[in-house]
Amino acid sequence: MNQYGLDIWANDNFIIKNDEVHVNHKSQPSLYDITKELRTNGTRGPILLRFPHLIKKQITTLYASYSNAIERNNYHANFRAVFPLKVNQFPSVVEAISDGGEDFNYGFEAGSKAELILAMNANKTGADITINGFKDKEMVTLAFIAAQSGHNVTITIEGLGELKTIIEVSRESNLKIPNIGIRVRLHSTGSGTWAKSAGMDAKFGLTSTEILEAINLLQDANLLSHLYMVHFHIGSQISDISPLKKALREAGNIYAEIKKMGADGLESINIGGGLAVEYDQHIKSESKNYSVDEFASSVVFLLGEIMDAKSVKHPNIYTESGRFIVASHSVLITPVLELFTQDYQEELLKLKDDNPPLIEELNYLYQKLNKENCIEYLHDALDHIESLLTLFDLGYINLQDRSNAEILVHNIIKKSLILSSSMNTDELTQLQVNLQERYLINASIFQSLPDYWGLKQHFPVMPIHYLNTKAMRAASIWDITCDSDGEIGFNPDKPLYLHDINLDNQDYFLAFFNTGAYQEALGMSHNLFTHPNEYTVIMNEDSYEIINELESKNILEIVDSMGYNSEEILNKLKKDLTGSTFITEKEKTDTLTLLKVFVHQNGYLRTTN
Ligand SMILES: *Cc1c(COP(=O)(O)O)cnc(C)c1O
Repeated sequence: MNQYGLDIWANDNFIIKNDEVHVNHKSQPSLYDITKELRTNGTRGPILLRFPHLIKKQITTLYASYSNAIERNNYHANFRAVFPLKVNQFPSVVEAISDGGEDFNYGFEAGSKAELILAMNANKTGADITINGFKDKEMVTLAFIAAQSGHNVTITIEGLGELKTIIEVSRESNLKIPNIGIRVRLHSTGSGTWAKSAGMDAKFGLTSTEILEAINLLQDANLLSHLYMVHFHIGSQISDISPLKKALREAGNIYAEIKKMGADGLESINIGGGLAVEYDQHIKSESKNYSVDEFASSVVFLLGEIMDAKSVKHPNIYTESGRFIVASHSVLITPVLELFTQDYQEELLKLKDDNPPLIEELNYLYQKLNKENCIEYLHDALDHIESLLTLFDLGYINLQDRSNAEILVHNIIKKSLILSSSMNTDELTQLQVNLQERYLINASIFQSLPDYWGLKQHFPVMPIHYLNTKAMRAASIWDITCDSDGEIGFNPDKPLYLHDINLDNQDYFLAFFNTGAYQEALGMSHNLFTHPNEYTVIMNEDSYEIINELESKNILEIVDSMGYNSEEILNKLKKDLTGSTFITEKEKTDTLTLLKVFVHQNGYLRTTN
């Protein structure tokens, strides 16, 4: 059975039982059953499922790894963590993080004013809020307001200008002064696609000269005691742990030096995010060469070692891992609308009484196809179709002949793949590659998997049912945008094989996994396809519950969000229709009713699937 790399990327979150993918928790429902239930009310198009228990699992794992490392290394300070909102700001996710992290005092990181407002709304008392990113005076003031409101706030400066603003606001208002953090510019850089957050030419952070100046400024303003944190972030999806170790040495020594300069309130070092997620479906450890335990151990050990060498008290360790916390919690389920070769069913074959000889020959090959001759006959058939297409171009055969030829060849291909399936030869693989099938999914790659479009980030994908049947078709996946970039092509090095399904009487669903980080806010409304219907699934011991349904925008809402006035548009369409001639009044009323139904639905396709 093809497991689609479940043992590599799924982290025991999903399992295959009977022939379907099941959630591996409590009542263990199958994704297919959940999907079917959600579609009974007429829902079509892609479905985004959220599993909050997986968020809780990741938070628990993160804290357990660090607390074990702290104990093992005899480290004398605490571990604290915040969730960077930019990774996923959707309400159900933030709620799950806030609830799932409550026992740990898990907080939030905000990188913009809007995110800070969300953090102030969702953060539980006593948990931290850290603020990064570029800030103006308004955002600095918001940080003061958050501190005044009882949150444990650290505002991290990305440059000296921001520090001056903080000093200004502290003079002008009586609001509580938040903790101050300094983002340090390291010469060490991360590795991987996202490693642009550190290094001498990085977008963020203070150089050593600027750090010294910052300390002077703080001293002069009598605010040095508020300096609480040294922060760095070497980039997301860190594939190799060694650059992190290098960055830790650098940041750790900067911390110790600042501490020795009399910054008595300095107590914490924030190592940013970067914990990687396994997205690979074929070979383990393509994405990362460490476990979270190993990562935590390295951080704790190194920081302890550096501080001991400089006789500096151990700092609290903060992390801002986002991808690691939420990537696994969501699954995108997409109906397959069409298999490209679906149009070539045998029933459609209309052989004439008198057929061109090559077509007779094709028909003979098809009838006589067996396990022994299938490869040879298939090669013959592929030759014949080339010749037949040339004959058509030259005007020697007609459209019916061409249609017959295409149907025969496609059926020869399908039958040969089945007949030769037990052979497992290179030849079979090659055949499959040459005879790819296209699967049209009712979803938009731009909206739901933008990192595939922008960075070619692979997401694990598999059918959620039929898993006891061997999948034979080398598959490329096409979305419903009319953009040729909306395609996940077949990659012979990392092949995806899917089933040959007759969609006239069976349904077929593909699921994309680990889609919970970054994809949603990044998603683009290309062709005006919007965020899919989403549902939060709560697991119980013997059942599951669906809560927090968030429907995809309907067409009127979509056009409104583009700045149109949907009411005016609807009136215009109405006026054009009612002003038209040649249809009866009743037909006009019926058509208007129909139009209204259409514009109140989302833009995804509503064919059977
Ligand atoms: C993006 C970001 C993070 C989160 O990184 P992940 O790789 O998702 O863990 C953490 N801290 C800062 C400053 C960031 O910009």
